[in-house]
Amino acid sequence: RFKDKNILVTGSTSGIGQACAERFAKEGANIILNGRHFADDEKQLIKTIEAYGNKVKFVQGDVSKGMDSVGILQQAIDAFGSLDILVNNAGVERNANFWEVTEEDYDLVMHTNLKGVFFGTQTFVKYCRKENRPGVVINMSSVHEEIIFPHFSAYCASKGGLKMLMRNLATELAPLNIRINNVAPGAIATPINQKMMADKDKMKGLLENIPMKRMGTPEEVAGLVAFLASDDASYVTGSTYFIDGGLTYHYEEQ
Ligand code: NAD
Repeated sequence: RFKDKNILVTGSTSGIGQACAERFAKEGANIILNGRHFADDEKQLIKTIEAYGNKVKFVQGDVSKGMDSVGILQQAIDAFGSLDILVNNAGVERNANFWEVTEEDYDLVMHTNLKGVFFGTQTFVKYCRKENRPGVVINMSSVHEEIIFPHFSAYCASKGGLKMLMRNLATELAPLNIRINNVAPGAIATPINQKMMADKDKMKGLLENIPMKRMGTPEEVAGLVAFLASDDASYVTGSTYFIDGGLTYHYEEQ
Protein backbone atom coordinates (compact mmCIF):
# COMPACT_ATOMS: atom_id res chain seq x y z
CA ARG A 1 0.00 0.00 0.00
CA PHE A 2 2.96 2.37 0.54
CA LYS A 3 5.18 1.76 -2.48
CA ASP A 4 7.20 4.93 -3.22
CA LYS A 5 5.75 6.72 -0.18
CA ASN A 6 8.15 8.49 2.17
CA ILE A 7 7.16 8.18 5.82
CA LEU A 8 8.60 9.72 8.98
CA VAL A 9 7.94 7.97 12.30
CA THR A 10 9.20 9.94 15.29
CA GLY A 11 10.58 8.00 18.25
CA SER A 12 10.98 4.93 16.06
CA THR A 13 13.91 3.23 17.81
CA SER A 14 11.73 1.01 20.03
CA GLY A 15 8.22 -0.18 20.81
CA ILE A 16 5.26 1.03 18.77
CA GLY A 17 7.31 3.43 16.61
CA GLN A 18 9.69 0.69 15.54
CA ALA A 19 6.80 -1.65 14.75
CA CYS A 20 5.19 1.07 12.62
CA ALA A 21 8.44 1.68 10.73
CA GLU A 22 8.79 -2.05 10.03
CA ARG A 23 5.16 -2.39 8.96
CA PHE A 24 5.42 0.53 6.52
CA ALA A 25 8.70 -0.85 5.16
CA LYS A 26 7.09 -4.28 4.65
CA GLU A 27 4.38 -2.56 2.64
CA GLY A 28 6.87 -0.80 0.37
CA ALA A 29 7.60 2.59 1.98
CA ASN A 30 10.86 4.47 2.32
CA ILE A 31 11.36 5.14 6.02
CA ILE A 32 12.75 8.06 7.92
CA LEU A 33 13.57 6.90 11.43
CA ASN A 34 14.01 9.31 14.34
CA GLY A 35 15.53 9.07 17.77
CA ARG A 36 17.56 11.13 20.19
CA HIS A 37 20.66 8.93 19.99
CA PHE A 38 22.52 7.22 17.19
CA ALA A 39 24.52 4.18 18.33
CA ASP A 40 24.81 0.43 17.67
CA ASP A 41 21.10 -0.35 18.25
CA GLU A 42 20.07 2.31 15.75
CA LYS A 43 22.62 1.06 13.18
CA GLN A 44 21.14 -2.43 13.59
CA LEU A 45 17.62 -1.09 13.17
CA ILE A 46 18.59 0.59 9.90
CA LYS A 47 19.85 -2.78 8.63
CA THR A 48 16.61 -4.47 9.71
CA ILE A 49 14.50 -1.92 7.85
CA GLU A 50 16.81 -1.93 4.80
CA ALA A 51 16.28 -5.68 4.53
CA TYR A 52 12.73 -4.97 3.32
CA GLY A 53 14.34 -3.52 0.20
CA ASN A 54 13.51 0.17 0.49
CA LYS A 55 15.38 3.35 1.42
CA VAL A 56 16.02 4.23 5.06
CA LYS A 57 17.38 7.37 6.68
CA PHE A 58 17.96 8.09 10.36
CA VAL A 59 17.33 11.65 11.53
CA GLN A 60 18.73 12.30 14.97
CA GLY A 61 16.79 14.82 17.02
CA ASP A 62 14.80 15.51 20.15
CA VAL A 63 11.15 16.32 19.44
CA SER A 64 10.74 17.90 22.89
CA LYS A 65 12.81 20.86 21.76
CA GLY A 66 10.34 22.96 19.79
CA MET A 67 12.78 23.98 17.12
CA ASP A 68 14.39 20.52 16.93
CA SER A 69 11.08 19.09 15.78
CA VAL A 70 11.08 21.65 12.96
CA GLY A 71 14.61 20.54 12.03
CA ILE A 72 13.64 16.85 12.16
CA LEU A 73 10.77 17.47 9.76
CA GLN A 74 12.94 19.52 7.44
CA GLN A 75 15.59 16.79 7.32
CA ALA A 76 12.89 14.17 6.76
CA ILE A 77 11.48 16.13 3.82
CA ASP A 78 14.99 16.53 2.36
CA ALA A 79 15.94 12.86 2.93
CA PHE A 80 14.21 11.49 -0.19
CA GLY A 81 12.98 14.74 -1.72
CA SER A 82 9.39 14.56 -0.43
CA LEU A 83 7.34 13.47 2.56
CA ASP A 84 3.89 11.83 2.36
CA ILE A 85 3.05 10.65 5.87
CA LEU A 86 3.98 11.83 9.36
CA VAL A 87 3.52 9.59 12.38
CA ASN A 88 3.96 11.59 15.59
CA ASN A 89 4.82 8.64 17.83
CA ALA A 90 7.53 9.79 20.28
CA GLY A 91 6.18 10.02 23.79
CA VAL A 92 7.14 9.85 27.45
CA GLU A 93 5.35 9.52 30.77
CA ARG A 94 6.28 10.36 34.36
CA ASN A 95 4.68 8.83 37.45
CA ALA A 96 4.20 11.17 40.44
CA ASN A 97 1.55 12.43 42.80
CA PHE A 98 0.09 15.63 41.36
CA TRP A 99 1.46 17.68 44.28
CA GLU A 100 4.98 16.38 43.64
CA VAL A 101 5.26 16.92 39.88
CA THR A 102 8.26 19.11 39.10
CA GLU A 103 8.34 21.77 36.43
CA GLU A 104 11.12 19.80 34.78
CA ASP A 105 9.01 16.65 34.47
CA TYR A 106 5.93 18.63 33.40
CA ASP A 107 7.95 20.31 30.64
CA LEU A 108 9.50 17.04 29.50
CA VAL A 109 6.12 15.34 29.12
CA MET A 110 4.26 18.30 27.61
CA HIS A 111 7.07 19.27 25.28
CA THR A 112 7.62 15.72 24.00
CA ASN A 113 3.98 14.65 23.71
CA LEU A 114 2.34 17.92 22.65
CA LYS A 115 4.72 20.75 21.72
CA GLY A 116 6.85 18.49 19.51
CA VAL A 117 3.73 17.25 17.73
CA PHE A 118 2.43 20.81 17.34
CA PHE A 119 5.51 22.27 15.68
CA GLY A 120 6.50 19.11 13.79
CA THR A 121 3.02 18.95 12.26
CA GLN A 122 3.11 22.67 11.55
CA THR A 123 6.33 22.23 9.56
CA PHE A 124 4.80 19.33 7.62
CA VAL A 125 1.66 21.36 6.85
CA LYS A 126 3.70 24.37 5.67
CA TYR A 127 5.57 22.03 3.33
CA CYS A 128 2.37 20.42 1.98
CA ARG A 129 0.85 23.87 1.39
CA LYS A 130 3.94 25.19 -0.37
CA GLU A 131 4.21 22.13 -2.62
CA ASN A 132 0.43 21.77 -3.00
CA ARG A 133 0.64 18.13 -1.89
CA PRO A 134 -1.82 16.01 0.11
CA GLY A 135 -0.66 14.65 3.46
CA VAL A 136 -1.51 12.26 6.25
CA VAL A 137 -0.76 12.78 9.94
CA ILE A 138 -1.22 10.18 12.67
CA ASN A 139 -0.65 11.02 16.31
CA MET A 140 0.14 8.31 18.83
CA SER A 141 -2.23 9.38 21.57
CA SER A 142 -3.43 7.07 24.35
CA VAL A 143 -6.60 5.84 26.01
CA HIS A 144 -5.63 8.59 28.46
CA GLU A 145 -6.83 11.26 26.05
CA GLU A 146 -10.21 9.95 27.28
CA ILE A 147 -9.92 8.08 30.60
CA ILE A 148 -8.14 9.04 33.80
CA PHE A 149 -4.71 7.83 34.90
CA PRO A 150 -4.10 8.91 38.49
CA HIS A 151 -0.49 9.95 39.22
CA PHE A 152 0.13 10.66 35.54
CA SER A 153 -1.45 14.12 35.39
CA ALA A 154 1.00 15.69 32.93
CA TYR A 155 0.70 12.65 30.64
CA CYS A 156 -3.12 12.90 30.66
CA ALA A 157 -2.94 16.65 30.03
CA SER A 158 -0.64 16.07 27.06
CA LYS A 159 -2.76 13.34 25.48
CA GLY A 160 -5.99 15.27 26.20
CA GLY A 161 -4.37 18.22 24.43
CA LEU A 162 -3.51 15.95 21.52
CA LYS A 163 -7.16 15.00 21.20
CA MET A 164 -8.28 18.61 20.74
CA LEU A 165 -5.29 19.53 18.60
CA MET A 166 -6.17 16.67 16.21
CA ARG A 167 -9.85 17.57 16.08
CA ASN A 168 -9.07 21.23 15.44
CA LEU A 169 -6.57 20.45 12.72
CA ALA A 170 -8.89 17.97 10.97
CA THR A 171 -11.22 20.86 10.16
CA GLU A 172 -8.50 23.35 9.40
CA LEU A 173 -6.49 20.99 7.19
CA ALA A 174 -9.27 19.19 5.28
CA PRO A 175 -9.37 21.93 2.59
CA LEU A 176 -5.63 21.33 2.11
CA ASN A 177 -6.29 17.60 1.51
CA ILE A 178 -4.45 16.66 4.71
CA ARG A 179 -6.02 13.98 6.91
CA ILE A 180 -5.20 13.73 10.62
CA ASN A 181 -6.26 11.09 13.17
CA ASN A 182 -5.24 9.84 16.60
CA VAL A 183 -4.47 6.26 17.56
CA ALA A 184 -5.20 5.62 21.23
CA PRO A 185 -3.53 2.46 22.54
CA GLY A 186 -4.40 0.87 25.85
CA ALA A 187 -1.76 -1.29 27.53
CA ILE A 188 0.80 -2.36 24.94
CA ALA A 189 3.84 -4.53 25.73
CA THR A 190 6.70 -2.06 25.07
CA PRO A 191 9.66 -0.65 27.03
CA ILE A 192 7.47 2.18 28.40
CA ASN A 193 5.63 -0.49 30.46
CA GLN A 194 8.70 -2.53 31.45
CA LYS A 195 8.41 -1.72 35.18
CA MET A 196 4.73 -2.59 35.35
CA MET A 197 5.20 -5.81 33.37
CA ALA A 198 7.77 -6.93 35.94
CA ASP A 199 5.28 -6.43 38.79
CA LYS A 200 2.91 -9.45 39.07
CA ASP A 201 0.34 -7.69 41.27
CA LYS A 202 0.14 -4.62 39.05
CA MET A 203 -0.23 -6.83 35.99
CA LYS A 204 -3.05 -8.78 37.63
CA GLY A 205 -4.90 -5.52 38.42
CA LEU A 206 -4.35 -4.25 34.90
CA LEU A 207 -5.53 -7.39 33.12
CA GLU A 208 -8.68 -7.53 35.28
CA ASN A 209 -9.71 -4.22 33.67
CA ILE A 210 -9.11 -5.36 30.11
CA PRO A 211 -12.02 -7.36 28.65
CA MET A 212 -9.63 -9.23 26.32
CA LYS A 213 -7.44 -10.11 29.37
CA ARG A 214 -4.13 -9.40 27.70
CA MET A 215 -1.84 -6.56 26.67
CA GLY A 216 -1.65 -5.56 23.01
CA THR A 217 1.44 -5.87 20.85
CA PRO A 218 3.26 -3.06 19.03
CA GLU A 219 2.55 -4.92 15.78
CA GLU A 220 -1.21 -4.76 16.41
CA VAL A 221 -0.95 -0.99 16.85
CA ALA A 222 1.17 -0.74 13.70
CA GLY A 223 -1.59 -2.53 11.76
CA LEU A 224 -4.09 0.17 12.74
CA VAL A 225 -1.62 2.96 11.98
CA ALA A 226 -1.00 1.46 8.53
CA PHE A 227 -4.75 1.35 7.83
CA LEU A 228 -5.19 5.01 8.83
CA ALA A 229 -2.17 6.07 6.79
CA SER A 230 -3.35 4.20 3.69
CA ASP A 231 -5.85 5.12 1.01
CA ASP A 232 -8.19 2.54 2.58
CA ALA A 233 -8.86 5.33 5.10
CA SER A 234 -9.26 8.07 2.48
CA TYR A 235 -12.50 9.37 4.07
CA VAL A 236 -11.22 9.18 7.67
CA THR A 237 -10.14 12.36 9.41
CA GLY A 238 -10.72 13.96 12.83
CA SER A 239 -11.17 10.64 14.66
CA THR A 240 -9.52 8.81 17.52
CA TYR A 241 -9.18 5.07 17.01
CA PHE A 242 -8.93 3.12 20.26
CA ILE A 243 -6.88 -0.08 20.30
CA ASP A 244 -7.20 -1.30 23.85
CA GLY A 245 -8.75 -4.78 24.11
CA GLY A 246 -11.97 -3.09 25.24
CA LEU A 247 -10.39 -1.19 28.18
CA THR A 248 -11.76 2.31 27.62
CA TYR A 249 -15.47 1.55 27.71
CA HIS A 250 -15.43 -1.70 29.66
CA TYR A 251 -18.16 -2.57 32.15
CA GLU A 252 -17.68 -4.90 35.09
CA GLU A 253 -20.45 -7.50 35.02
CA GLN A 254 -21.40 -8.46 38.59
P1 NAD B 1 8.75 3.38 24.02
O1 NAD B 1 9.34 3.99 25.23
O2 NAD B 1 9.26 2.08 23.54
O3 NAD B 1 8.81 4.38 22.77
C1 NAD B 1 8.89 5.75 22.86
C2 NAD B 1 9.87 6.18 21.81
O4 NAD B 1 9.93 7.60 21.78
C3 NAD B 1 11.30 5.69 22.14
O5 NAD B 1 11.90 5.23 20.96
C4 NAD B 1 11.97 6.95 22.66
O6 NAD B 1 13.36 6.94 22.45
C5 NAD B 1 11.28 8.00 21.81
N1 NAD B 1 11.38 9.33 22.38
C6 NAD B 1 11.06 9.72 23.63
N2 NAD B 1 11.30 11.02 23.78
C7 NAD B 1 11.76 11.47 22.58
C8 NAD B 1 12.16 12.72 22.11
N3 NAD B 1 12.14 13.78 22.91
N4 NAD B 1 12.58 12.83 20.84
C9 NAD B 1 12.60 11.76 20.00
N5 NAD B 1 12.23 10.54 20.41
C10 NAD B 1 11.82 10.39 21.68
O7 NAD B 1 7.19 3.28 24.30
P2 NAD B 1 5.96 3.02 23.35
O8 NAD B 1 4.98 2.33 24.16
O9 NAD B 1 6.38 2.43 22.06
O10 NAD B 1 5.42 4.52 23.12
C11 NAD B 1 5.17 5.07 21.86
C12 NAD B 1 3.99 6.01 21.94
O11 NAD B 1 2.82 5.26 22.28
C13 NAD B 1 4.11 7.11 23.00
O12 NAD B 1 3.60 8.33 22.48
C14 NAD B 1 3.21 6.62 24.12
O13 NAD B 1 2.69 7.66 24.91
C15 NAD B 1 2.14 5.92 23.31
N6 NAD B 1 1.37 4.94 24.09
C16 NAD B 1 1.94 3.78 24.54
C17 NAD B 1 1.17 2.88 25.28
C18 NAD B 1 1.71 1.58 25.80
O14 NAD B 1 1.03 0.92 26.59
N7 NAD B 1 2.90 1.16 25.42
C19 NAD B 1 -0.16 3.18 25.56
C20 NAD B 1 -0.70 4.37 25.09
C21 NAD B 1 0.07 5.23 24.36
